[in-house]
Amino acid sequence: MGRVHNFNPGPSAIPLPALQTAQKELLDYNGLGLSVLEMSHRSKDFDAILAETKKSLTNLLQIPENYSIIFLGGGASLQFAMLPMNFLAQDQCADYINTGAWSAKAISEAKLFGKVNIAVTSEEAKYTFIPSPEQLKLDPSAQYVHLTSNNTIFGTQWHYYPDTGSVPLVVDMSSDILSRSFDIKKIAMIYAGAQKNIGPAGVTLVIIRNDMLEKVKAGIPKILNYKTHTDKDSTYNTPPVFNVYMIHLFLKWIESIGGLAAMEKINREKKDIIYSVIDGSDGFYKGTVREDSRSWMNATLRLSSEELEATFVTDAKANGFIGLKGHRSVGGIRVSMYNGVPLEAVEKLAEFMKEFRKKH
Ligand code: PMP
Repeated sequence: MGRVHNFNPGPSAIPLPALQTAQKELLDYNGLGLSVLEMSHRSKDFDAILAETKKSLTNLLQIPENYSIIFLGGGASLQFAMLPMNFLAQDQCADYINTGAWSAKAISEAKLFGKVNIAVTSEEAKYTFIPSPEQLKLDPSAQYVHLTSNNTIFGTQWHYYPDTGSVPLVVDMSSDILSRSFDIKKIAMIYAGAQKNIGPAGVTLVIIRNDMLEKVKAGIPKILNYKTHTDKDSTYNTPPVFNVYMIHLFLKWIESIGGLAAMEKINREKKDIIYSVIDGSDGFYKGTVREDSRSWMNATLRLSSEELEATFVTDAKANGFIGLKGHRSVGGIRVSMYNGVPLEAVEKLAEFMKEFRKKH
């Protein structure tokens, strides 16, 4: 069939069985004689897709009953603005932890609505580490604490979640949602663009603890109010119907391989393979971040010159591995190994990396 080994940083690989089901059902979903692309968002068939998708999420992430799950448009970037619009007034303060370009974007949006306390930043260290609990200067009167769990561009990831006491913790999980287990009860709100780990671009998953909904500010546009969407179960207006369906198929695939524990095990193996190639390369491949902060999702590395990096990307592509060029703002190489990237693709890439080193 000639499919490539897809290491794109996002939108990124979707498991083949999910794509094949979508292909099979594209013209005739469930014997209805129409596609999910052509279906009313108010039909009982879409209701069932939505309910199934929420059920899978609830089971996989063990989401307690006092949380709501909604699907929104506008990308994770809309959440940068929607979060402070809903929960931060001019005279109030929110804590933000700055661990990368996406955190910084969230911070600049929050500043339009209220005061922002940068609880800690790794910017001076070129975003190469995740701060320790001791480094966080949290404000006990903050409306919420915001952090980015995986820093897609810089290749760092949180491997713990800070204890924020009674201050709600809000996490941008756009690049590591459902890649590993975590205790959701520590988190008041999660948002994640689907396009890296659970589906296609065009839909953002928001999981929000219901007590947060009571704190939504008055006077904000209806369409940007979280309560509008939780009250109407994601169908206040037309949601991205097909994208929700693709999340549904992606989650069914995660369930089929054994759920989140199995997904985590595979992701752990994948990152171990790549980091061991880097660490065993005698400095040929140089990881760019502190070892304790390494991301399981995006391994960022440098070679001895930009020319050699360009050769790496070109040779990799000729061998069927695409999407390995680092983000345009930082250069280098980035190996994105999200949920949809099979273990075998990573094993083959590791072989390629070893061969490339020998050759150069
Ligand atoms: N947060 C993180 C961690 C991301 O990686 C991205 C996209 N790469 C975004 C937010 C922005 O997402 P979107 O393009 O869906 O607005």
